[in-house]
Amino acid sequence: MIPPKPHVAAMEAYALADLTPPPGKPLISLCQNESFRPPSPRAAKAAASAALDQHLYPDPDWTALRNAIGKVHNIDPAQIICGNGSLDLIGCLARAYLGPGDAALAPAHAYPFFRTATLSAGARFDTAPERELTADTDALISAVMSDTRIVFVANPGNPTGTRIPRSELIGLRQALADDVMLVIDEAYGEFADHLNEPVFDMVALGNTVVLRSFSKAYGLAGARVGWGLFPPAITGNVRKLLNPNNVSAASQVAAIAALEDQTYMRETCAMTAGIRDRFCAQIAGLGLTALQSFTNFALIRFASPEAAQSADSHLRSEGVFLRPQGGAGLPDCLRATIGVADDMALAASLLKDWINKEGRS
Ligand SMILES: *Cc1c(COP(=O)(O)O)cnc(C)c1O
Repeated sequence: MIPPKPHVAAMEAYALADLTPPPGKPLISLCQNESFRPPSPRAAKAAASAALDQHLYPDPDWTALRNAIGKVHNIDPAQIICGNGSLDLIGCLARAYLGPGDAALAPAHAYPFFRTATLSAGARFDTAPERELTADTDALISAVMSDTRIVFVANPGNPTGTRIPRSELIGLRQALADDVMLVIDEAYGEFADHLNEPVFDMVALGNTVVLRSFSKAYGLAGARVGWGLFPPAITGNVRKLLNPNNVSAASQVAAIAALEDQTYMRETCAMTAGIRDRFCAQIAGLGLTALQSFTNFALIRFASPEAAQSADSHLRSEGVFLRPQGGAGLPDCLRATIGVADDMALAASLLKDWINKEGRS
């Protein structure tokens, strides 16, 4: 049998969400940070009409989509690249700029896919400690090694939900050498846009990339559309590695229509925050810790990894699936995606039952 490359053989598979409910129970999935409601009806309509032209390839250059993104964010469409989800772009960045002998660096509880992308390029993955489950830019700066080529930060972070201020990101960029790339993954950026700390202008500082996604606030996780703003010197190299025609025609028009309905997206963010903050208050009322979140999920911290696992099993036995966080170095935590209000009330009441049954939190 042909052996895989040694660095691939050494990798663990990316931990996919478990979506199989117990027999007889409907699945209540609060484990993938999907939106609690479908995308703007305009997006669904655009995708449906695109279905009639499926004999044609999509626009390989995402022209209309890039223009629509540029208009909403007031950025140059020529510096935008679209991906089959932003994970597509993270993978290409890793393959373009990392290899054996190189390293990438991220906060200790960073999004696990940063590790997967780094290892799949044959590079080493390093982490820096966080402060109260928040990325610590000073610790990142101290952890940079001579072979560090990329620093990944998600802001807000996943699975923590916490965020770092723009001023700290600028300090991080200024402390990094010119030949170290800073990738700022803003998959949840829309949920924090009201704080008015955009970082798109940081791309002009050089070697800085800002990524966004249609999967979260726009409710288009199934369409697989992500994008990034890149310095001109980086776009050409990332494009070489992208599979041509990576974003389907239906997904491109759905994303454009979703962008053109900013009112709907802002409403999604506001409704999500309302349900989230109510849920977090209920969780705190049970004596558990729910971190303040700037996203569409909440990280719940238990007394021990064993307690988190026991609570998870109790929720799962009723079909309610949260996401365990051992892979992000937080085995004492469960991440709850913010679903519809009824599902969050059910999750909170199951946690209450669990506490009553177990006599602990
Ligand atoms: C959800 C998420 C992504 C987005 O992935 P897509 O491929 O665009 O669906 C990227 N980064 C983080 C931190 C995420 O949580």
